[in-house]
Formats: sequence, structure tokens, C-alpha cells
Amino acid sequence: MTHLEKKIIQLITTQGPIDVSQYMLLSMDDPQYGYYKTANPFGQDGDFITAPEISQTFGEMIAVWAIITWKNMGDPSPVLLCEIGPGRGTLMDDILRTIGKLEPEYLACMRVFLVETSPRLVIIQRKKLRAHNVRIEWIVDFTKLPDLPLVLISNEFFDVLPIHQYVLNNGHFRERMISVDKNGHLCFSLGPDASDVHVIPSDDNTPGGIIMELSPARLDLAQAISKHLAKNRGAALIIDYGAIEPSCGDTLQAISKHSFRNPLENPGSYDLTSHVDFSALAQAVCNSGCHTAILTQGAFLIKLGLLERAKKLGSDKNETLRQKITADVKRLAAPDQMGELFKVFCIADPETTMLPFAWQASHPNND
Ligand code: SAH
Repeated sequence: MTHLEKKIIQLITTQGPIDVSQYMLLSMDDPQYGYYKTANPFGQDGDFITAPEISQTFGEMIAVWAIITWKNMGDPSPVLLCEIGPGRGTLMDDILRTIGKLEPEYLACMRVFLVETSPRLVIIQRKKLRAHNVRIEWIVDFTKLPDLPLVLISNEFFDVLPIHQYVLNNGHFRERMISVDKNGHLCFSLGPDASDVHVIPSDDNTPGGIIMELSPARLDLAQAISKHLAKNRGAALIIDYGAIEPSCGDTLQAISKHSFRNPLENPGSYDLTSHVDFSALAQAVCNSGCHTAILTQGAFLIKLGLLERAKKLGSDKNETLRQKITADVKRLAAPDQMGELFKVFCIADPETTMLPFAWQASHPNND
């Protein structure tokens, strides 16, 4: 039993069952034993591998998007480039290197902000990024950004933010809770009636036992980003796995060493996430004056020139390296790998055209 499991069992024994959101927060952010405070999540030797850790071409395509977006905004100076949840700093490293090569004037007028709560990861990010000739600042709260035009990126961060789960039981939704079973282990249980929690669509045909998920934390952050963009101009990319259309079902998942595990087992030792409901994010920002668009990761990267870049990158390499580049690019963009499950969701102020999404952009006033 992990230290954190003991701590959670003690909490439940004294205070009663906790909801899934509290459980995720404790598992990931507990100051002593939380996953991001102690684990080595990233890369082949860690628990999971993210797109920037697979191939430099991912960050290069995001850099191309950032340059296009900055120009599209009328190349404002100064301008903020912000990443929320930067992990090992690999994505920002690739972005800054590419912008430095392709558009040094952009680099010269930017202030970089990294939003990160893990002091251990801040040290790793500082080390990784110290060679770049640009001002980089770390903050723990997105809302502390200065009021300036913004280009924002966030890869595999929204999935970490906690969710609430609701189970349909005898015609009513009840919050899914975590209790302690008779053997002293953590188990799921049913909590209070959640009929008053709005935005849970169901009708007589909705099957009993079905699980709906809501994430106020994700909606709040998307709204905060949107408000900043509407006020100061700019655009944001939120990249994560999840569905474009509203959906239901249990997507809470625990990953360790690249395999799925039981989310109630060994809290603090596994990465705990869930799929992002992009339709809910779009709805949350639609009243804030911004517009939104979405593409699959594969479509987004290919539109920005992923295949051409991969070809160029491989042109002076030997056969083995060329094959690796091809395999990595497939992993990022192929429909049966990350290409379709992952989505790229864009939020922009109404004056900023969302390239390469423009053909399907929609503004709330035009609906
Ligand atoms: N974007 C990275 C890794 C994402 S993992 C990549 O693509 O490789 C999630 C990241 O978010 C980690 O850096 C973690 O420390 C950070 N994080 C977790 N909770 C956070 C919070 N509430 N605010 C800011 N950063 C957070």
C-alpha cells in the first residue's frame, strides 16, 4: 500500500467518501506524495510518452502555427508565448529553436511564460531552455499573465485536470464516489443525488449504470484563456485526447509504464487522466467573445506541412534514421495511432483568423 493510499483511506474513514475530482487532485497534486511531485512520468523509461517526446517535428509544426498566428494578429510587440503544463520543456525547446530559425523578429519581441506547479519539473525545464536567448518566466497560475497579446499552447494538460463522474441509477444521476470496502481497499460507491447538476442530458432510453463526466476545472481554465484572448487579442491551441461530439462513458484512466492500470490502485504512483470533452469546452467559451475550431491532430499536422518536413529532415540521414523519422511521424498523425484520438482545439479572438482551421471556423454571432 502506498503512503498516499494510507492517507486517503484515513481521510475517508474520518470524513466519509470523496468524489472522483478530489481523488484525482490528491493522487496527482498531494504536496508530499502526489504523482507530479515524485514520479518520473515522461519518455520511454517513464509512464507515458507525449507527442513532443516522440518527434521534434511536432514542436516544429506548432512553431509554424505560432508564427502564422502572430503575423495574422498584426505582429504585435511585445507578445506573450505561454505554455501550460510544459512537462520536460521539450515542446517549448523545439518551438523556440524553430521560431529562432524561421522568424527571429518574433523571438525578439516575445516574453515566454510557463505555467507549472511542479518545482521538480521547473528545474528540468529551466535547464532545457537556458540556451534560448529569450526572457522566460515561470508562474503557477494562468490568470497571473500580464495583459498583453497572447499565443498559448497546451499539450496533454487538460486531461490531467480533475473530473466529476455521475452514474445513472434508477432514473437519477448520483455522483460517483470513492469509499473503503470491507477489506480496507479503495472502491467506487454511489454518492448524493446529482439531479440538480445541470448539463447531464438523459432520457428514458439512457441505459442505467451509464457514466457522465463533467470537469468544471477544465471549463474554468478554457473560459479564463478565452477572456484573456478577447481582452488582449491572440489565439490558443489545446491539444489532447478526447471526443469532438458530446459523449458519455467512463474515461478515467491510470497509466504506468505505458500500460493501463486500475485507477484506484496505488494512488500517487500512476498517471491519472480522462478524455477531454471538447464540445463542452467549445460551449464554455462561446459566450466570451472568442471563436473556436477543432481538427484531429493528424489533419492539423499534415495541413501545416508535417510530411514535407519529415522528408526534408530525412534527406541527409541514413536508412535507419529515415525509417525512424517515418515511424515517428506515423505515430503522431496516423488515424490508428495518435492522429485521430488526439484533437487540436483552437480558441481565438474574433479578429484573428484560425489557420489552418479557417475553413471551419465559426463565430458565436454568426450561429
Ligand atoms: N505538455 C507536456 C507534458 C504534460 S504532463 C508534454 O507534452 O510532454 C502535465 C504537465 O502539467 C506537467 O508538467 C505537470 O507538472 C503540469 N501540471 C499538473 N497540474 C498542473 C496545474 N494545476 N497547473 C499547471 N501545471 C500543472
